[in-house]
Amino acid sequence: MTKIFEDDLNASFGTRAIHAGQRPDPLSGAIMTPIYQTSTYVQEGLGFNKGYEYARGKNPTREALERNVAALEGAKYGFAFSSGMGALDSIMKLFKAGDHFVVGENVYGGTFRLFDKILRNFGMEFTYVDTRDPQRIEDELRTGRGTAAVLIETPTNPLMRLTDIRAAAEAAHNAGALLIVDNTFATPYFQRPFEMGADIVWHSTTKYLNGHSDMVGGIALVNDDDLATRLQFILNASGAVPGPMDAWLVLRGTKTLHLRMERHDQNGRVIAKWLVDLVGDENVFYPGLASHPQHEIALRQMSGFGGMISVETGSRERAAQVLERVRVFSLAESLGGVESLISHPASMTHASVEEARRLGLGISEGLIRLSCGVEDVGDLIADLDRAFA
Ligand code: PLP
Repeated sequence: MTKIFEDDLNASFGTRAIHAGQRPDPLSGAIMTPIYQTSTYVQEGLGFNKGYEYARGKNPTREALERNVAALEGAKYGFAFSSGMGALDSIMKLFKAGDHFVVGENVYGGTFRLFDKILRNFGMEFTYVDTRDPQRIEDELRTGRGTAAVLIETPTNPLMRLTDIRAAAEAAHNAGALLIVDNTFATPYFQRPFEMGADIVWHSTTKYLNGHSDMVGGIALVNDDDLATRLQFILNASGAVPGPMDAWLVLRGTKTLHLRMERHDQNGRVIAKWLVDLVGDENVFYPGLASHPQHEIALRQMSGFGGMISVETGSRERAAQVLERVRVFSLAESLGGVESLISHPASMTHASVEEARRLGLGISEGLIRLSCGVEDVGDLIADLDRAFA
């Protein structure tokens, strides 16, 4: 399993982003980690090898990525996967039939689909609650043969609702449960859940960590040695690992994470304010706005808010008009790339959630989601101005 280089933790965030987990190639001195495009490794004799046997278990490019992101999150161990969902699927294999989970009701549609359509059939039990109120988590925690874990996503996709990570960790730990946090939207640049008590943090690296919309991947981070040993076993046994090229693409992306996140955040703040003037603050969901009902939690646990904004336009027709008129924003699934994207959660990211449940969660037909990229903000606003006209 991949453990961080301890001395990487001496550097501050931007330096870690560029260097953590990476050392000049011992063969050539190449400054960039090579793409070890291999399935197997030659062994010197029976029982003698350089620590690498078969690439499902271990690959040096993947290890560099795992060390890099672990250092950014402030974790001891990293495990890279072939998608965010692959990461979560392997995390869930730490548990067993009969285990109970308290889950934020606003989690990403794919997370809900994995739990509701697959893992429920394997005997796992899920209770969905509005985790904006930590008391709701406490109310659903079972002791005895109790709750195994609390799973939260903060901010949520797409409504940008927040959960107080410290309060969730305290509630989970008091009941003997783990806290698992999807940190995809905030990234470790703006939010570090381990510092607030999380036990497992995971990401869709497809999003901000890669940042260039050119691969699909995931990663899980842990601090606990026993969890790390078990996760490495699952990673190798289940095999949802990324290829070395994809691992390298994320590693290249994380080198500019701090720079990109600053610009996503600047653009996000400007565009959120512009949208408030257009449609009113009750229709703009962005934790950086003073009008966000949980702005105070945002200030406490996030150091910035990024480029994700959702807007209630009022109707499917109005949403369609905006989505079809944009020219700089592109109508597409996904988020977190340098280019700006726009999407319709009801028919895209949350299409797998039944209509009644989706509407109950506030994901209406009129809701659109913006992933503000790092283009010039004037061009993005001009584009939205044209689209909303
Ligand atoms: N978590 C969040 C918050 C997401 O937005 C997504 C994908 O959109 C995922 C997890 C799943 O990641 P992937 O698409 O890499 O499997």
